[in-house]
Amino acid sequence: MDKSFPLSPDIHEDIISGHPERNILTGWSSVAVHSGHSQDPNYAHLVPIYASSTFVYDEAEQGMRRFSGKEEGYIYSRWGNPTFTEAENKIAALETFGVQYNGSPVEVKGILHASGMGAITTLMVANLKQGDKILTHFSLYGGTEELITNILPPLGIGHIIADLRDLNKAEDILKEDQSIRLLYLETPANPTIQCVDIEELTRLAKQYNVIVACDNTFATPFLQQPFRYGVDFVIHSTTKFLNGHGTAIGGIMLGRDVERMKTRIHVLAKTLGGNANPFDAFMLISGMKTLEVRMERHCQNAMEVAHFLNDHPAVSKVNYTGLESHPDRHIALKQMRHPGAMMSFELKRGLQGGIDFMNKLRMCVRTVSLGTCDTLLSHPASMTHYSVPKEEKEKYGITDGLIRMNVGIENVQDIINDLDQALK
Ligand SMILES: *Cc1c(COP(=O)(O)O)cnc(C)c1O
Repeated sequence: MDKSFPLSPDIHEDIISGHPERNILTGWSSVAVHSGHSQDPNYAHLVPIYASSTFVYDEAEQGMRRFSGKEEGYIYSRWGNPTFTEAENKIAALETFGVQYNGSPVEVKGILHASGMGAITTLMVANLKQGDKILTHFSLYGGTEELITNILPPLGIGHIIADLRDLNKAEDILKEDQSIRLLYLETPANPTIQCVDIEELTRLAKQYNVIVACDNTFATPFLQQPFRYGVDFVIHSTTKFLNGHGTAIGGIMLGRDVERMKTRIHVLAKTLGGNANPFDAFMLISGMKTLEVRMERHCQNAMEVAHFLNDHPAVSKVNYTGLESHPDRHIALKQMRHPGAMMSFELKRGLQGGIDFMNKLRMCVRTVSLGTCDTLLSHPASMTHYSVPKEEKEKYGITDGLIRMNVGIENVQDIINDLDQALK
């Protein structure tokens, strides 16, 4: 990893030393490869894709025991499926590997969903009722923002959107408004890679009995483990770096109150019907085994690319917390192992500059989404945000020449050469 971004010593220390009770798997990739797996009854090496909607009983009494919860076992795939279970347990292990909170190891339970948005929907419905409010930072994933600002309000669920990098302001808001029930964090966030302080905000939220959830999609558990700071829920769009190859849409909701996750939240999730499917779960499991090796390469490439862009005459600004210039670098340094693979940059030539640049790319790919092995670039002003009014765009830091990039794992010189020729 790049030495110019020093590792936070305590994070590094317990990742290396491992969890005392899981001392067979003492290193990150061992957990990524092996955790969550259980021996297949037919001795298949890998978990099979359990393409079965329902599960059968040896006798009527077994059905009775399963339905009443006296015996563990699968019933119907909307409720749970062995292929989902392996993915859920693997992500839970990665999010808690080496993690202690208040001096004790943390245990969490995950529920796999059809998409990141499916998981976020379950999170919201599980924790909010009419009259409650969500407190969140302004740079949110588009779908999450749509849910919070347009879909939940008619159901009587409000929101306060503020700059949560200002901790005094965050505290004032929490103190003033007793109806805030959920603090929703997403860090780092689109498109300017803003970060919020998970530890400080969670500490404040706890003082006012507010539940905390964190979208950890951009960082992945390899770079950031929010349960370390006492958050109640972690959300992922597994579509991105966890799957890693762009082969499936998926999401997960993980919770620290294991009993509640297994009972009330499981009932809710299976009733809302946003369950995953076994094929996508299988693709996710395969992808996660290489998370550490992929992330190391993504991060190493990203740091080099960021420096290249920062020195380039056609680029006016690079938003990357690995650079001294990013205003949230101190937050990233505190809670992340490395600034990650996402960045954005501004072209001096504005809208037309952005269009010309995108058209000239030869190896890097023109598309939205992120977390794949290939370098992906998007130009919000001509693509995702084409029809959004200018003032609205500027609120999010989306200028006409802004390019968003997921730096892939290709040879870094090939990435730089492609960007260089496209910038000419
Ligand atoms: C993609 C994404 C989501 C939504 O996930 P889907 O799998 O597309 O539903 C949520 N949060 C972040 C940060 C994302 O990048």
